[in-house]
Amino acid sequence: MKDDLNSTFTLSIDWEDFGQLAYRDHSAKVTEPLKTIDRQTGIILDILSQTKRKATFFILGMLAQYRPDLVKKIAKEGHEIALHGQHHKNMRNLSKADAYNDLRDSYKLITDIIGGPVYGYRAPYFSIDESNFYVLEMLADLGLIYDSSIFPIKLKRYGIENFNTKDTLYELPNGKSLVELPLTISQWNNKKIPVAGGGYMRLFPKFYLDRIFRDKNSKQQNVMLYLHPYEFDTQNLNCTDNYPPGENYSRAKTFLFNMRWNLFRNSITPKICSLLEDYNFITCLKKAENVKTNTYSPTILGCPQ
Ligand SMILES: [Zn+2]
Repeated sequence: MKDDLNSTFTLSIDWEDFGQLAYRDHSAKVTEPLKTIDRQTGIILDILSQTKRKATFFILGMLAQYRPDLVKKIAKEGHEIALHGQHHKNMRNLSKADAYNDLRDSYKLITDIIGGPVYGYRAPYFSIDESNFYVLEMLADLGLIYDSSIFPIKLKRYGIENFNTKDTLYELPNGKSLVELPLTISQWNNKKIPVAGGGYMRLFPKFYLDRIFRDKNSKQQNVMLYLHPYEFDTQNLNCTDNYPPGENYSRAKTFLFNMRWNLFRNSITPKICSLLEDYNFITCLKKAENVKTNTYSPTILGCPQ
């Protein structure tokens, strides 16, 4: 396996539990995660072990609090542990102080669990744009070396239109620097689409995805895949499985949520396995280190690029 600049694929897992998030959104309370997180994490680790690849896991603090054993297991298998914040809040909706506290709390929790440093961050809901670039400064203040939160396309809930699509070292207003590893986008009928994760990756047929990734690989473009544990599950999932007995909730809303959760999910594992077998994967940290090593002068952070 070559770990050089030609290796442009990264598998990133936003390690969170959708049952825990669904209940928090429903009740504003944090409860235990679903037991299914064991099976889902096991499937991902097995796939990575079989294909001899390393991935980056962006760990959500409120899940790690309940399952430090799983975080340690992921780290022990040689995968990179990075941060996904503490409470899974949209960073654009938080005050500067609350945003910093969320980052600091997750940093402390996760570094305590693994007994070592972390180097990267992904914001929940990809919630970094021009309105809160100060979050990048906070990451650099905490000693992180990269962020992977920016979608270089403006979508309804996130993203920055025309943001630089290349992995880049930026000089920040506070004089520090940070590597940004943007999420991968592609073109479809002259429209930009976020092709490398979530619902898009589930919905697009494998032959279409294969064509996109072959093209990106031949042009040595960065590919940042992002997935969640539940997307690897082989069984039907129900977000209310961890609701306390007698809890009132909207059946219609839950039906739609579960439908979205389960739709085309079984197609993810074969798609990812074939990518892991066909391309050369490195972690986010390795990618960020390569960018730093190969950058003579950082780019001034601004938009559009
Ligand atoms: Zn998330």
